[in-house]
Amino acid sequence: MKIILEKLKCIGCGSCVSVCPQYFELTEQGKSHLKGKKINFSDNNNEELEINDKKGCIQEAIEICPMQAIYWETQNAKRKTQNLS
Ligand code: SF4
Repeated sequence: MKIILEKLKCIGCGSCVSVCPQYFELTEQGKSHLKGKKINFSDNNNEELEINDKKGCIQEAIEICPMQAIYWETQNAKRKTQNLS
């Protein structure tokens, strides 16, 4: 299971950090950052992190983000499909 953080959408409100400091932190540039050694940076400035457990605070961070900048990779695929119809 992969969590995606779209850096360009992030406005640095800090809500994800508040509910899920285990996985998120704010950088000096005022953007959220996914913690962990398994982070990969893709071409469009997204951050990706493979995790095994879909439960827990990450889901809270997804729901609290005002910019919808955090989502599971499967949700993004679904969103793209919906945009095409
Ligand atoms: S909740 Fe969303 S907009 Fe706010 S810091 Fe986290 S990723 Fe950025």
